[in-house]
Amino acid sequence: MKLRRLTRKRATDEVYESLREAILTRYFRPGERLQVDEIADKLGVSLTPVRHAVQQLANEGLIEIKPRSGTFVATLSIEDIEATFEVRIALECLAAEKAIERIKPNELARIEDLIEALSQPVTNEESLRKHEKANSELHQLLIDAAGNKRLAEIYNGLNAHLTIARIHAAERNESRNTEFGKRFEIEQAEHEEIVAALRARDVARMQSALRAHIARAKSTLMNAWQQQG
Ligand SMILES: [Zn+2]
Repeated sequence: MKLRRLTRKRATDEVYESLREAILTRYFRPGERLQVDEIADKLGVSLTPVRHAVQQLANEGLIEIKPRSGTFVATLSIEDIEATFEVRIALECLAAEKAIERIKPNELARIEDLIEALSQPVTNEESLRKHEKANSELHQLLIDAAGNKRLAEIYNGLNAHLTIARIHAAERNESRNTEFGKRFEIEQAEHEEIVAALRARDVARMQSALRAHIARAKSTLMNAWQQQG
């Protein structure tokens, strides 16, 4: 009995991981209908772990289960995006207070590496993906450096939504390629200011830098969203 339960649990975890990845990498598009039986078939598992994984992703907000209609990759409204960014600002400003007190030398070194990576030019989809990954890791590091598990959990839940929002915006805004250069120059200056404030252990300065950075990211995303929406 014990062995069977463990096996089933692992299958659910594996299905969960691969579905989550498929959504966040746009293999499944926002609004796309998900066929549980097809997914089970493709992954070579039974329906049960797929149903469990789908439920888990629904709790996280990545999947919407509509009664009598089906299971869909979540879509977001402009209000959802705005609300998510407001909470993100609050969480990152809270994290900043703690991170300034607790940050370790190796974390600071990793942050320096990420700032360096973020200074590399973004010219195509591949470099954009790398850039966004480094950007997320930088913010994640600041959250982790705060050493508050609950805060990190809430932040991770938000992140899934923000990733979905970015996917939507990217699909709606094909002209963004022409804006690559300028946008990243501003972003880099903002990141450098955040890290300079952290190094100077200046809470107020770091919070105002974070607020400005996240608010700008929010309006960029919302503009992209509205342009084609
Ligand atoms: Zn950033």
